[in-house]
Amino acid sequence: MNKYIVFDLDDTLFYEVDFLKSAYKEIAKKLVPDDNYISLYNEMLELYYKQQDVFGILASKFHSSKEVLLTLYREHFPDINLRDGVKDILNKLKDENIKMGLLTDGRSVTQRNKIKALDIENYFDKIIISEEFGSEKPDKKNYNVFLEPGYEFFYIADNPKKDFITPNLLGWKTIMIEDNEGKKIHAIPNILQEKYNAEKTVSWQYFYALIE
Ligand SMILES: [Mg+2]
Repeated sequence: MNKYIVFDLDDTLFYEVDFLKSAYKEIAKKLVPDDNYISLYNEMLELYYKQQDVFGILASKFHSSKEVLLTLYREHFPDINLRDGVKDILNKLKDENIKMGLLTDGRSVTQRNKIKALDIENYFDKIIISEEFGSEKPDKKNYNVFLEPGYEFFYIADNPKKDFITPNLLGWKTIMIEDNEGKKIHAIPNILQEKYNAEKTVSWQYFYALIE
């Protein structure tokens, strides 16, 4: 049977923390419009890692508002890269005419900017973004929209809290991509029922062998 491989975006194809750093840099440059922005940027990262209210602190320090800073965060055009090995895998799958899709939760402008920055739009037959689509994972609709007769479906993602439960129920093959560099933003709970877990867990390095 032909394969239809659907990918998650955040923390699967690229690391969301790289988006955060890119946004922080841009915001720091706006607030401190000379080379000193670097020290503000480092301060912001430090606050983030200490789980402080970064934008609240910045808003009072620079007489701005959290809403303005959040909008900058969400709408800036990010400087981000695909995770190691991803580009080669997408190219290989494309060369083999394997159908690919993208299924991600988030705001349209934010996710579309990420897709543009990563230059991956052309790999995908269908791109589903929750804000544009009207529902979020794990809603069945978000997965069923990819269905076409004659295909075996895969979902490739990183977050057992919401990514795999529905495709597992629908009979898709599910693969979780490991975080090799300890860069994932959202912690995964240790205790989850079996139905939430992907069938297989692998690093991008060994992904291709798994779907052959
Ligand atoms: Mg994800």
